[in-house]
Amino acid sequence: MNKIIKKIILYLLMFFSVFFFLQNSIYKTYNNNSIEYSKFISDLTKNKIKEVKISDKKINVIKKNDDTYNTYIPINDPKLLDTLLIKNVKIIGNESNTHNVLLTIFISWVPVLLLIGIWLFFVKQIQNSGKNLISFIKNKAKLLKPNQIKITFKDVAGYEEVKEELREIVDYFKNPEDFKKIGSKIPKGVLMIGPPGTGKTLFAKAIAGESKVSFFSVSGSDFVEMFVGVGASRVRNMFIQAKKITPCIIFIDELDAVGRQRGYGVNGNNDEREQTLNQILVEMDGFEENPGIIIIAATNRPDILDKALLRPGRFDRKVYFGLPNIKEREEILKVHIKNIISKDINLSLIARGTPGFSGADLSNLINEASLLAVRINKKKVTMFELEKARDKIILGVEKKSLILSNKQKELIAFHESGHTIIGSLMSNHDPIYKVSIIPRGYALGITYFLPKTDILNENLKRLENKISTLYGGRIAEEIIYGKHNISTGSYNDIKNATLIARDMVIKWGFSNKLGPILYNNNKIFIENKNKINYISDATLYMIDQEIKMIIESNYIKTKNLLIKNIDILYSMKESLIKYETLNYKQIKKIMCRKNIC
Ligand code: ADP
Ligand code: ZN
Repeated sequence: MNKIIKKIILYLLMFFSVFFFLQNSIYKTYNNNSIEYSKFISDLTKNKIKEVKISDKKINVIKKNDDTYNTYIPINDPKLLDTLLIKNVKIIGNESNTHNVLLTIFISWVPVLLLIGIWLFFVKQIQNSGKNLISFIKNKAKLLKPNQIKITFKDVAGYEEVKEELREIVDYFKNPEDFKKIGSKIPKGVLMIGPPGTGKTLFAKAIAGESKVSFFSVSGSDFVEMFVGVGASRVRNMFIQAKKITPCIIFIDELDAVGRQRGYGVNGNNDEREQTLNQILVEMDGFEENPGIIIIAATNRPDILDKALLRPGRFDRKVYFGLPNIKEREEILKVHIKNIISKDINLSLIARGTPGFSGADLSNLINEASLLAVRINKKKVTMFELEKARDKIILGVEKKSLILSNKQKELIAFHESGHTIIGSLMSNHDPIYKVSIIPRGYALGITYFLPKTDILNENLKRLENKISTLYGGRIAEEIIYGKHNISTGSYNDIKNATLIARDMVIKWGFSNKLGPILYNNNKIFIENKNKINYISDATLYMIDQEIKMIIESNYIKTKNLLIKNIDILYSMKESLIKYETLNYKQIKKIMCRKNIC
């Protein structure tokens, strides 16, 4: 509040100075060359006046010596006109001056009105923030009563260990007396750690659903306001409300928005955040044993959280939400697809083709697929829509409107065939799934590989095969068109292969010359040679040489392999131009030198 008051005082001061300045200058122009009325009367009695122009209270006086001045009639002076007539003064009634007077009144009132306006504005602001404080629970924190929560653990696929671990909380809510009797302590706070979309909110809600308790949810960023102190009072209010409806779960999403380490911020919101954070800590410490409230917070940046938050009695229970693996992806798809699916669907194939997808991405995929089905008037989602939706999410929309010349198409077909053939020939490589020369997103063509299982650990052979497959496209171009006609389309392939080779040398110890040593690739360390991780120029040179060696030896090997299979390269190119997309069955046939039609 202090800040608001300071601000208001500042504005008022500014305002008054402007106001007085204006007043003064208006007064000056207004009173320009004006003299007292008594002086005018004395001039009049002394016969010095030749002419007067009267407009309302203002009199413009011309003396006999042609001097002029203005004066103002202080009160109604009925005798004035008689006196003027007696003294033979020329009298002119002036209308235009009324306008002036109005203007003057207007000018002299504007600042006052402005002042009132600004005052009202501030009063309203303060009232509003006060109102917000009061109605905060209604506006920001969402409250779900037990009968409004339809989600239970069944609706959360995977995360069996987490379910196991947090079942304790459900048990506690169901039989709090038992816990009290045994005297066992239930965690006050649970911290869910994991990237966005991995189902943290869903899980927290499922706990409330399983336990049949109310669910308060609020985002950390809702606490952070421009005005210092608002966040803290919001926290206080939230706990007051929560205590009224125990048992309940309070879910704070994006805890890092308020829970950053104190004293580290860069912007002016620092005080505010610290106060809010302190208030959360105070509230959590203030709980008596078994208060019937459990706070669950989610973050994907546990590293930046204030250590105080993680102390015993606060968020001391941590659970991790990683990206789902193949099996979990399949389960998540199953949860979401429910009854909109036709029978011929192979969800495991979709699960294999969606590495790196979060639960939210997968639910989005199902949604896209059902939209597609609706668009083409299908009652159920089939494999066709699921794959289309997946491709759209991973690769972007097909650019059917992009017109390519036959020559360009042929080059892309050779390039993709190169990837496909090398990928198929490499043992120990992810199985090939699909190849297409329909441009999408940034890519002009695409070759897909689908891992059979999650790859948790690479090995040298697999890495070398990956590099070979990445260069397969460029090598095909080189073989067919010659060195001088290679296109720039291999930029991404080259980049990815180089990154792999680099890590092989500096991280994974696959270079014989440099040995199994970590060469810190952190630029700061390399540039700042006085620091601990000093890498000599000679070593840097050797790293570059080793990367080059890995790439070149694989390049030569791959080129020889493709030359040996050049007939397949031609036939695959032909098929690609004909069909634009080939599936794994067709590719298998071509690889066996069989006709695909
Ligand atoms: P977070 O809170 O981690 O950002 P959410 O809980 O908001 O993620 O997840 C978004 C959506 O993703 C959920 O509403 C749900 O539809 C889907 N989802 C995520 N993980 C799962 C899962 N394990 N099982 C089922 N659906 C999931
Ligand atoms: Zn390529």
